[in-house]
Amino acid sequence: MNFQVRAVLLDIEGTVAPVDFVHKKMFPYVLNALDLFLQEAWETDELGEVLALLAADAGNSSVVEWLPTSSESQQQTFVAHHVRELMATDQKLTGLKQLQGHIWKDGFDNGQLQAPLYPDVVPALTAWKNLGLELHIYSSGSVAAQKLFFGHTTEGDCLHLLSNHYDTKVGGKKEVASYQAILTDLNRQSNQPIRPEDLLFLSDIPEELAAAQGAGLQAGLALRPGNTPVEQDHPFYEVSTFDTLTLSLPSSS
Ligand SMILES: [Mg+2]
Repeated sequence: MNFQVRAVLLDIEGTVAPVDFVHKKMFPYVLNALDLFLQEAWETDELGEVLALLAADAGNSSVVEWLPTSSESQQQTFVAHHVRELMATDQKLTGLKQLQGHIWKDGFDNGQLQAPLYPDVVPALTAWKNLGLELHIYSSGSVAAQKLFFGHTTEGDCLHLLSNHYDTKVGGKKEVASYQAILTDLNRQSNQPIRPEDLLFLSDIPEELAAAQGAGLQAGLALRPGNTPVEQDHPFYEVSTFDTLTLSLPSSS
């Protein structure tokens, strides 16, 4: 399939990497590393900032007000228990996200975490970039987590392939307005106008593609091993490997 586009917007899970990596590897890594991380980082400014956010998220005005007056190790146990509860109920709070980010950074830096990209991804992205296309990421994972992910993949550091990263700060992935906001942002940086149809969005979720299409983008449905099968009829071109996608710049540009 040939798409004439000037840029590609990529989802991560289920599109360039296995859909369960975050839940099967990244979240369990936090749970395993949590106690030791709290012990080792307890006195650091980095953790102090996280504790202040966790305390605020839990409705306290300070860390002192939040933590029990007891030994350091009991306070660490209290924090660890609280964090495990937040994660068990899949909370998306700022303090929790920041703590997870610090622990993931350790894991990616020490090599215990490595982001698994499908083997066709880096060759395709490299070829597209060499053609002059810009490559951007839009994922529900935070921009900081996206950068850790692409900085430490099974194929090495891939950040140089990517231009912009977007997370749900621009809005939800099933909302048309989010794709309009991304286009506006891309146009702010570009000296040549980028039309909606100049952008191809690749994702494994038909509702996300429908929202992108609603904003005028082109859209392709990633069908990767382990993805939830798409039952409903959909109008999107199906992509089981990026090898089958031929991208070229619009003839006008
Ligand atoms: Mg996805």
